[in-house]
Amino acid sequence: MSSYVTHLESALDGTNLAAHTLQTTHRDRPLWVRYDLEAVGDALTKDRLRDRPPTMWRYRELLPPESDDAIVTLGEGMSPLLPCPRLGAQVNVGDLWIKDEAQLPTGSFKSRGLSAAITMAKELGVERVAIPTAGNAGGATAAYAARAGLAAYVFMPEDAPAVNKYEAALAGAHVFLVNGLITDCGRIVQDGKERMGWFEVSTLKEPYRIEGKKTMGLELAEQFDWDLPDVILYPTGGGTGLIGMWKAFNELVELGWVDPDDLPQMVAVQSTGCCPIVRAFEAGARFAEPFEDPATIASGIRVPSALGDFMILDALRESGGRAVAVDEARIRDWMQRAASTEGVSVGPEAAVCVGAAERGAAEGWIGPGDRVVIYNCGAAQKYPDVMARDLPRVDKDAPDWDRIAAGRAPTTER
Ligand SMILES: *Cc1c(COP(=O)(O)O)cnc(C)c1O
Repeated sequence: MSSYVTHLESALDGTNLAAHTLQTTHRDRPLWVRYDLEAVGDALTKDRLRDRPPTMWRYRELLPPESDDAIVTLGEGMSPLLPCPRLGAQVNVGDLWIKDEAQLPTGSFKSRGLSAAITMAKELGVERVAIPTAGNAGGATAAYAARAGLAAYVFMPEDAPAVNKYEAALAGAHVFLVNGLITDCGRIVQDGKERMGWFEVSTLKEPYRIEGKKTMGLELAEQFDWDLPDVILYPTGGGTGLIGMWKAFNELVELGWVDPDDLPQMVAVQSTGCCPIVRAFEAGARFAEPFEDPATIASGIRVPSALGDFMILDALRESGGRAVAVDEARIRDWMQRAASTEGVSVGPEAAVCVGAAERGAAEGWIGPGDRVVIYNCGAAQKYPDVMARDLPRVDKDAPDWDRIAAGRAPTTER
């Protein structure tokens, strides 16, 4: 099949740009991908979806490639949507769910965006991709570039999680550690584009990662039988996922598949250690000031300055949602709570959403009957330093049975 994409559109000023040719940004700000939704509606029905393979490419008509042969996939998508009553009871949310993106290829939801971006880069003739990344996007870029047979150049802060460094190198990317932040990595990629022949696939610098992440929203709708939840708690860095889901919901409204009065409140959750979107939201601003000295163990949301800040803030306001910052010092504790009550491998990013759920219930912006969904965007196992703790030892010849019987409650103390 071919594509239903009609054109690209500047998110900043609505300027139309040609699709089916390499595009990046317009006036240094992101582009929307626009579809002929009427034609999509003729081609795709809820029924037709039912028998398709459980990957994000089941929503093919709402995705951008011209040719099916171009699709670069590792089976990403249809992550489990798990009811979490025990965790819900702990945070006073009666109907709590986790959409477990940790189970996707490369252990994070970055696989969705990079599957779409690398698919399009390959279809449009790119040979070398480059990316500055705080972590998981580097691993996903490397994996999908390997899958597509493209060269990948990955620049990470030297203190990025070890797993992210090594997974990217293992997948054959050219990995470089930079003594700075993701913004410094971004400058290197920017400066090297021409001489190195790179196409940049970083967050919102090309139009298609949003389309991949959009499928998180399409799936959520399908998994809840097209009846969307009341509140979505999203750990927000560059915001691609939140922006993409809001776009997905609006496309579903236009298709007539979900009720426009039933859209969820979108909530951007950040750590007090890096919360530029929260500050802008509270100030009533449409653009965010860069956050000075960002410091959080949730490396996926350590993004001091987001190219799509206004797109995130627009989505929060249009949806009647909000932005909240929760205590950096409690992230380990929320990870432990989620993992030990439900068995879900919750990374430090999604842990902030556990804190936000508790806050929302206490402050009343999550009501007693509300259905709430947390996105667990990356597996805890990708952060061995954050998981680490001292564990009791047992002697092989003289086990201390009193100590074993006394056990030890889970703790995040070290
Ligand atoms: C990238 C990342 C985020 C932030 O995602 P955005 O959509 O860019 O805001 C959150 N959690 C994890 C684990 C990530 O890798």
